[in-house]
This record gives sequence, C-alpha cells and structure tokens, in this order.
Amino acid sequence: MAVVQEHEKKEILCKDWLSKPKKLLIDGKWVEAKSGKTFAVVNPATEEVLCHVAEGGKEDVDLAVKAARRAFEHGPWRTMAAYERARLMYKLADAIDAHADELAQLETMDNGKPIKESRGFDVVQTAETFRYYAGWCTKLEGETTNVNSNFFTYTLREPIGVVGQIIPWNFPMLMLAWKWGPALACGNTIVLKPAEQTPLTALRIGELAMEVGFPEGVINIITGFGADSAGEAISKHMDIDKVAFTGEDKTGKLIVQASTSNLKRVSLELGGKAPNIVFADADIDAAVRGAITGIFFNQGQVCCAGSRLFLEKPIHDEFMSKLTDRVNKIRQGNGLDENTGIGPQVSKEQQERVLKYIDIAKGEGAAVACGGLVPEDQKKGYFVRPTIFTGVHNQMRIAQEEVFGPVLAVIPFTDMESVAEQANATAFGLSGAVWTADVKKAHKFVSRIKAGTVWVNCYNVLDPAMPFGGYKTSGYGRELGKHSIELYSNIKSVWMNMMD
Ligand code: NAP
Ligand code: MG
Repeated sequence: MAVVQEHEKKEILCKDWLSKPKKLLIDGKWVEAKSGKTFAVVNPATEEVLCHVAEGGKEDVDLAVKAARRAFEHGPWRTMAAYERARLMYKLADAIDAHADELAQLETMDNGKPIKESRGFDVVQTAETFRYYAGWCTKLEGETTNVNSNFFTYTLREPIGVVGQIIPWNFPMLMLAWKWGPALACGNTIVLKPAEQTPLTALRIGELAMEVGFPEGVINIITGFGADSAGEAISKHMDIDKVAFTGEDKTGKLIVQASTSNLKRVSLELGGKAPNIVFADADIDAAVRGAITGIFFNQGQVCCAGSRLFLEKPIHDEFMSKLTDRVNKIRQGNGLDENTGIGPQVSKEQQERVLKYIDIAKGEGAAVACGGLVPEDQKKGYFVRPTIFTGVHNQMRIAQEEVFGPVLAVIPFTDMESVAEQANATAFGLSGAVWTADVKKAHKFVSRIKAGTVWVNCYNVLDPAMPFGGYKTSGYGRELGKHSIELYSNIKSVWMNMMD
C-alpha cells in the first residue's frame, strides 16, 4: 500500500484558483498577453505543473505603462487625500491577513519554501510592510526654508511617476511588498514584473488589491520573462521614471545600462556573500542556531545568507560537531508538510547550479562535513541536502561566488585583524554578523564590516522599519524604513518672489 505523505492529506485552499486562467493585470482588467502565449509554473517539490500564466512581452509592457501613466497624470491616486491612500493600503494588508493560509500555501507550492516559513515569515512581513508604508502616506512632508526674506522658499515632496519593478523568486510576495509599499505611499503608479519561476502570489495579491478598491491603472502586473522580454522592456522604457530591481548582480548591471535610455532612476538590491563571524567567547549554542538560520533559511536562497562562517580556532571543532549534528537532523521534503525544515531549490536550474558549486568546492580541496548531494530517498523535486564545507580558504570560489543555495563555507581564523580583512575581501557587501559576549569587540566589528546590515548575536532579523541594502556590488539605494521614501519621491524647490 502506498504511504500517504503528510502534505498529501492537506486541503489545498488555492485549488480552484489555480484552475482558472492566469492573466496580466493592466488598467484594472485581467487580460491575455497580446501574443496569446503562456508558460507553465512548476511546483519544485513535485515537478508538477501548477498552472499556466500569461507570458507578457514588450507590447504588454507598453500597454501597462500607458495605463500607469494615465492613472498617474489623471487618476485619483496622486491627488486623493493621503489618508485615503493609506486606508486602501491598510485594507490590502488586512485582505492579505484574511487570506494568510491560502497565500502561504500558494507561496510554498510555487517556491518550495516550508509552510511554517511562508505563513510565519513571508505572509506576516508582507502584510506588515504594507501597514508600515500605509503609515507613511500621511507623514510625507516638504520644508520651508529661511533663505532670503525677499523670497518665500519651500520644498515639496512629490511622487516620481510611473515606476517599473522587477523582482526575484526567493521571496516573491515579500519583494512585492517591499516594492509596492513605498511606491504606493508616495503616490506613484506601478508596473511590476514578478520572476518567471514564482508569479502566483503576485497575481493573487493583485486580485486582492482590485477587490479592496485600488483605482484602475495604479497597479499593473506583467508576468513573463526578463531577458529580451518584459523585464528588459521595463528597464529600457522611455516613459518609466524609475526602475527598482532585486536579483543577480549581472542582471543589475544590464538594468543600469538599459536605464540610460531616458536616465530613469535606478535602485538595486543584488547578491551577497556574507561573513558570519563567531568569536571564542560567544554563546556557542546560540551561534550554532544562528549559523543554521543564516545559511539554510529559505534553502539558502537568501541574498543576505551567512554563507561564509568564520570560526575562531579554539572553538572550531566543538562548534562543527554541534553544527553538523543539528544539520544532519534537518527534515527535508515537501514544504506543505508542517514538519519540513528545508524544502527544494526553486527550480531545476538552481538545483544544478548548487550541485555545480558543490563540485567546484570539492575540486578546490574543501572537505564535505555534511550533505554535499541530493537526498537519496527523494525521487521527484529539486532537492539538495544542506551542505557544509570545512577547510575553506577565503580565496576559493566557494568563498567568493554567490551559490544562492544551502551551502556553507567554514573558514577558521586566529585574530581579529585577519578576520576583519577576510570578511571584507569580497565583491559584495550586503550583510554580516558577529557573535561575541564582548560588547566593545562587537562595536569595533560593526564599524569594520563593509555591509549594509550587521547583526550582533543574531541573524536574518528584519523589520519594515529597518533599512536594507548593499555596499559595493550588492547594489545601491536602501529599501525599507524611511529611506525607501527617498527612492520613490522627488524634491521640488519652490521660490516665490516676495519683493514689492
Ligand atoms: P535574476 O536572474 O537577476 O532575476 C531577477 C528578476 O530580473 C527576474 O524577474 C528576472 O526575470 C528579471 N530579469 C532577468 N534578466 C533580465 C534583464 N535582462 N532585464 C530585465 N529583467 C531581467 O535573479 P534570480 O536568478 O531570479 O535571483 C537570484 C539572485 O537575486 C541572486 O543573485 C540573489 O542574491 C539576488 N537577490 C538579491 C536580493 C537583495 O535584496 N539584495 C534579494 C533576492 C535576491 P525572469 O527570471 O522572470 O526571466
Ligand atoms: Mg535568473
């Protein structure tokens, strides 16, 4: 008799929804792509096709931009009372909460992540990001300045206009919220392109936005591909005023080049190779848990993942024994199972990329402390066992290139100076962490690390009010917090002649 898996007993709340056609959202209406083309969306845990989605291209982007432009120039969005804009955003957050279980399942089936994380992190943070930015609608201010008594001088903070937003597959709904939240609060209109691997929660949240009453054309969603298609059309478009991008550094460079068409403003959230540094005086058990969260959360597909673990030599062996002991016990499987601790990689392409890096690390002479392969009992799905390499040098490719998977490189160190240098010897600078009981040492380290976020005695903690973004090739601009308001608004200086 076939064994019924835990996740197979589950009621799939989005089953009916998945069976309906998935179209583009343009000007408040759901429409097919002009080409009539669609593409398949696959569940990475089972390799089953979940549904087909409209494949938007350049023509569809043009229509979406026209709708967004009309809504910006003539629609009620920019001119409505700020509290009314806020109210709609709060309503959207409430609608997301009301559909939390459904959205969590959808995200898990689309991306593979464990349902505990989809529900407890992604959905919660998405709703709270909308609430946080709803609060900003009524707090946007200009200034009056005392420049010269012959003039009345003041500044206005205005929306930028039509914004293009291109997001990745690792946190599909959360990346949407990070982009929509500040853009909407400032009064902009939006053309969003979700990642081809994970377009579903964006479409469902788009429906919720229409249901709660967002005006036509304010939010447009074009599902489709990036290169030579919808993504590129957004980045080149002459009537898009700003583009916000999260994804690979290589793509980020293409976006910047394309943006020169009309010198649209650009903000970039790119990759990372974060140092996670543990000193001998740290709380070892807490640091072990932090190292696990740091690299294995979301199957390692996290831009700020702590993928380089620096261990002070005296604790190296004890730490490794505790770490591998726990990691070997992580339950891997279909994310819909409540007991799953780690799911599959998002796609076959990603699984292959991770396995390629595992081979590269072995070839460089690093030793496999655990994992290093696909799970033997998994017949379907794009799984890779959580993997740890010891004996790594910071110059190895496994310590320099972003794997974007559950692969940890462990590097021993002897003194503070050398670990600080190695931590910064990377092209990236998105995040880092330090574990120590010594407050002075922690503060010294915080200022040494060239990264946009540094965690002390914790890892992967985020909040909509705390800015997030990179140094060096991890990108520019800060999302979240008040800083994101800068990305989505313009300052206008006004001079009024007061001379008689
Ligand atoms: P990606 O290939 O750069 O894709 C990101 C988005 O850009 C997708 O929507 C993609 O479309 C689109 N795209 C691809 N080529 C394009 C082009 N030429 N013009 C315009 N758009 C284009 O990245 P990914 O493989 O999805 O995600 C993994 C990477 O993202 C990692 O390197 C990771 O570090 C980074 N990331 C960074 C952050 C951060 O906050 N800093 C967060 C998440 C991820 P399609 O995929 O649909 O074709
Ligand atoms: Mg890609």
